[in-house]
Amino acid sequence: MSQNCPRCSNALELMDIDGIKIDRCGSCRGIFLDKYELNRMNAASETAIASLNDAAGSVGASKTATGAKIKCVRCAALMETVNFSYTSGIMIDHCPACDSVWLDSGELAKIIEFMKASAKMSEEESAGYAETLDEIKAAAKEKKEGDFRAISSKGKMGSIVNFVYKMIDRISGE
Ligand SMILES: [Zn+2]
Ligand SMILES: [Zn+2]
Repeated sequence: MSQNCPRCSNALELMDIDGIKIDRCGSCRGIFLDKYELNRMNAASETAIASLNDAAGSVGASKTATGAKIKCVRCAALMETVNFSYTSGIMIDHCPACDSVWLDSGELAKIIEFMKASAKMSEEESAGYAETLDEIKAAAKEKKEGDFRAISSKGKMGSIVNFVYKMIDRISGE
C-alpha cells in the first residue's frame, strides 16, 4: 500500500511501533491511524506511546496546512475536523466513514498532555471526595459514640434525657 500524505502529498511510510501500525509522512510528520490501531493505542504501554510521539515529532505549524479538509488515507472520504475528547481544544481530523484519524505533527503530544492532565485531575478529584467522605464518616462515628456513651452511662433515664436535649437543640437551632 503506497499512499500519499493528505497534507503534503509526500509518500507515506508504514511504521510498526510495538505492534501499532501507522502511516507516517516523513516530511510533515503527520500520522494516520485507523480504528484498529487506535484501539491498540488505547492499550499501549507508556513507552510505546512515547515512541509513537517521537515518530510523530513536532514540526513547525507552518509546515502543516491545518484547517484545510483532507481525504482519508484509507477510504478517501472527506475527513472532518473534530475536537478531541469534545473539550480539549485539540482539533484532529477524523474520518466519519471508517473512524480513522489523521494527526498532524505535534497533535499527539498535545493529546498525551491532555490525557495526563485529565488523569491527574480525576485523581485529585477522587482524593478530594475521599477526604470529604472520611470527614463525614468520622463525624458520624463520633456522634454515634457520643450518643452511645451518654445513653450507656446514664441507663434508660439517660437516653430519655439525651433525647429531650436533642429535641431542645433542634428547636433552638431553628
Ligand atoms: Zn505530509
Ligand atoms: Zn476513511
